[in-house]
Amino acid sequence: MKLKDLEIKELIKNIYPCECGLIHDPKMERIEISEHGTEEAIRFILNKAKGRIMVISDEITFKIAGKRVYERLKEVNKETYSYVIPQKNNIPVIPNESTIGETLIRMPLGIDFFVAVGSGVVNDVVRNISYHLGKEYAVIGTAPSMDGYASITSSLIINNVKESCPGQVPKGIFADIDILQNAPYTMLTAGFGDVLSKYNAVREWRFSRDLNKEHYCEEIAEMVWKAADKCADSASLLKNRDKKAVTGIMEALILSGIAMGMYKNTRPGSGCEHHIVHYWDIEFIKRGWVHPLHGNAVGVALCVICRLYDLIKEKLPVEVTDLNTENIENILKSAGCETNPKTLGIPEDIFHDSILYGYKMSSSKYTILTHLNKYDKALLEKCAQILTKQYYIDIL
Ligand SMILES: [Zn+2]
Ligand SMILES: [Zn+2]
Repeated sequence: MKLKDLEIKELIKNIYPCECGLIHDPKMERIEISEHGTEEAIRFILNKAKGRIMVISDEITFKIAGKRVYERLKEVNKETYSYVIPQKNNIPVIPNESTIGETLIRMPLGIDFFVAVGSGVVNDVVRNISYHLGKEYAVIGTAPSMDGYASITSSLIINNVKESCPGQVPKGIFADIDILQNAPYTMLTAGFGDVLSKYNAVREWRFSRDLNKEHYCEEIAEMVWKAADKCADSASLLKNRDKKAVTGIMEALILSGIAMGMYKNTRPGSGCEHHIVHYWDIEFIKRGWVHPLHGNAVGVALCVICRLYDLIKEKLPVEVTDLNTENIENILKSAGCETNPKTLGIPEDIFHDSILYGYKMSSSKYTILTHLNKYDKALLEKCAQILTKQYYIDIL
């Protein structure tokens, strides 16, 4: 049986000694994305927690699900506590040292089990805190917006710089379909963009395998690719918040997170489209601006990198997996996703420089940007100019 043929609930039941030489361990006990996701979560948490339970949400997710989860848990376990991360100055919660510190200060001692109710930020905060306290946690997702649900690391902002900080995989991931379906549409498109970016992640992994003999696992690559295919097939249904399309995105996001955990590296789930977005994020944070949702930016960066490959693929020393740029852009557009950095709100200078310096965002991952910087800087500069002209002057 190929990994790509397993349903996600089946996949997490085993550990897989693989032909690639690694043993792939999904390290998760339960995934339930259904009409009864929250109810299943409550049963699971009550069964796992041997003492005090801490439910952490933000102001929005508390109203959506956190309050109900807290009250239902407290009916059975009197030592259940709730903390709602406050929003400050009307800007979305930032997962930084201040948020982590304040959450710890407000918490009672002796918590045995943590519950994160939310998506990106709440999950990153709880993953980090529970890890440092040596306790397990589960997450109840409120939006299919990013692929960090199953991640082992927390993306935090420390001293105004985004860092990948230590964390742990949640024991369970749960979500109610109707909550996911009713998430703000920008969160649905963000999830969709993040899933589609896996095409480029796999392409670049193969590129480095062929060029540098980098270790590679076809089982994992195929699994991630198939999850992206499945979402791409139902792109046009997303606008109606179709149940199958939304569930597909959530499962694909969780699956790509698991794939990165099973490979013990983010290689299967992120390529230089993520590095470009990382560059944009850092520049926005430096200026005190709120950057676009991760997946919406990643979807745009995927289009940019596809155009970059089109400009230089004939000049590469190895053949690369062909992604049809027009097709990728049309799939994203049919799901209502942004495909252009200018309309996403990325200033021209930041965009231009992200092509030149995006490679700096990862010291270990070999991508097309690393390659061009190493062997043909003049070509990289020319490409940055051409792409900037395409998006900002010719107005695509
Ligand atoms: Zn493998
Ligand atoms: Zn991502």
